[in-house]
Amino acid sequence: MTSLRPEDVRIDQIVESSCTCFGVDEFFPGLDPAAVAGDMSATGPEGETAHLEYAFRSHLVRDGQRTILVDGCVGNGKHRMRPAFDDLATPWLDRLHATGVRPEDVDYVVITHLHADHVGWATTLVDGRWVPTFPNARYLLHRDELEYWYSDVGAAALLRTGDYLADSVTPLLDHGLVDRFDSEFTLGDAVRIIPMIGHTPGHTCVEVTAGDERLFLAGDAFHHPIQIRRPELGTRYCVDPAQAAESRRRILAYVSETGALLAPAHFVGTGTGRVHAVGDGYRFTPVTTAPAAPGRV
Ligand SMILES: [Zn+2]
Repeated sequence: MTSLRPEDVRIDQIVESSCTCFGVDEFFPGLDPAAVAGDMSATGPEGETAHLEYAFRSHLVRDGQRTILVDGCVGNGKHRMRPAFDDLATPWLDRLHATGVRPEDVDYVVITHLHADHVGWATTLVDGRWVPTFPNARYLLHRDELEYWYSDVGAAALLRTGDYLADSVTPLLDHGLVDRFDSEFTLGDAVRIIPMIGHTPGHTCVEVTAGDERLFLAGDAFHHPIQIRRPELGTRYCVDPAQAAESRRRILAYVSETGALLAPAHFVGTGTGRVHAVGDGYRFTPVTTAPAAPGRV
């Protein structure tokens, strides 16, 4: 049990955008769109296809001694094949500033996994070069995640998005700012870094504890609430679907038993809720107030 009181830990959401840019079938091949029609983040039908509404957000954690950014959304001015990610110009950085944190104040950047919508703000364009946005931070990455995306298999997977490693990750390596990990560890008393692999080979979650309250930042272990009701349901983009499903079950068992708040990266609204075991599955109940939610695009 941590000695930190809830007031010792501050958590802010830094929201980049939200969109209804993914068809149900794109993320969940073969799934009947009617299966998600009653959930909070399904819209449509748009033409023949129902679309899923996704938010894109980072979390900023301050424990009084260190400032930790979890995930970096899509970023500005980056050329991407997916139109929803291409050449964005969002006020994400202004929203970070609005929390009272400057980029140089960030001590750690935890990237849950190396998909393009989680690592974009790791770098920004300065005088024509992509440079680390957080010059004093250590960027923490699972060793297997780095190895996978820089392998031939990972390079092939990059084709659908564009080579975002070149503008968002390689500059971090070039500046010597990356620390690799391969197992669970803590940052102080409040923050626990927990590999939960499957969606990608080094996918990682972050738990923040303050007093009796826990917040479980689940990254992309879940993309949509239907995966809480049906944890076996993987996405088209899960590298190891069976392992991803196992990680979802572990997370659901943990948060339902401990009462931790669950906050996946892309759920809409507050993006945060409680999970309760119901029969042989689980139910997600959103909270009406996120730890902090300074606006949406
Ligand atoms: Zn994502």
